[in-house]
Amino acid sequence: MRLILLGPPGAGKGTQAQRLVAKHGIVQLSTGDMLRAAVAAGTPVGRQVKDIMDRGDLCPDEIVVSIIAERISQPDAKNGFVLDGFPRTVAQARALERMLHEKGLDLDGVVELKVDEGQLIRRIESRIKQTLARGEPLRKDDDPEVLKTRLDAYRRQTAPLIHHYREKNLLRAVDGMAPMDEVTAAINWIFAKPQPQKTSTKSATAQKTKQKPAKAVGRAKNAKPAPREPAKAPARSAKAGRSRTVAKKPAAGKTAAKAAKRSAKRR
Ligand code: ADP
Repeated sequence: MRLILLGPPGAGKGTQAQRLVAKHGIVQLSTGDMLRAAVAAGTPVGRQVKDIMDRGDLCPDEIVVSIIAERISQPDAKNGFVLDGFPRTVAQARALERMLHEKGLDLDGVVELKVDEGQLIRRIESRIKQTLARGEPLRKDDDPEVLKTRLDAYRRQTAPLIHHYREKNLLRAVDGMAPMDEVTAAINWIFAKPQPQKTSTKSATAQKTKQKPAKAVGRAKNAKPAPREPAKAPARSAKAGRSRTVAKKPAAGKTAAKAAKRSAKRR
C-alpha cells in the first residue's frame, strides 16, 4: 500500500502514519523527521536546512526530493509506505509521480486530514506542554509564531495539492478534528480490502440494511462496501469513484471502535 497523508501542521499526520505502519507493515517516510535527523547529525544537508526549518519555511524541493528518492529505493519500502509531510509542493508531487512511474508503481490514495486552523494553535500548545512534561526537548518550530509561518506555507504551497490529487481521483478527505481513533477508523475504512459478500444468511435483508452507510461514502480503489463507515464527511472524489466522503462524527451513539468491532465480527 502506498499512501500520502496531506494536511497542515498539527493535523495528526504523524500519529495516523504510525498507526498505518503498525496495521499494514509498511514504512513511514516523514521528510520532517528525516530533515530533523540531518540537522541533528550536522550533515551538509542538515546545515543547509536548519535555519529554514527553524523559521517554518519549506526546504528546497531538490533536497527533499532527493532524500525521498533515496529512501523509497530501500528494501524496507518495497511493501509500501505512507508519506507524511511529502509532497508539500506541486513540483514535489510531480517528482514523486516520476519516481513511482519509473518503478512501475502507483499510489493507492491521498488522505487529506481536514482541520480547523483555529484549533491547530491549541493542539500545538498542548503538544508543547506534553513534550515538556515528558522532559523532552521542544522542536524549534513548536512555537505559535512559527506555526503561523508553517500554516501560511501550507496554504500557499501545499494546499494546491488537494486540487492536484482530486483531479487524479486519488483524494480522500477525512475530518481530522474527530477523535484520533475515529480518524484512524475512517482511514482504515477507506482502505479496507474488498470483503466477500454474504449470500445465504437468513437475515440477508437486515444485513443489507445494517451495512448501508448512513451517508454515501467513497472507498479507495478495489474496496467494496463491507464495514460500516466509522466517520464521515464529504470528499470530492476517489479512485473507486463510488461517492464522496470524509470523516466527521460517526452515526449518533456509535463509536468508531464499535463500528470496527461490528465489521470485524461480520468478516
Ligand atoms: P509539521 O509539523 O509542520 O507537519 P514536519 O515535521 O513535517 O512538520 O516538517 C517540519 C519542517 O521540515 C517544515 O516546516 C519544513 O521546513 C521541513 N519540511 C518537511 N517536509 C518538507 C517538504 N516535503 N518540503 C519542504 N520542506 C519540508
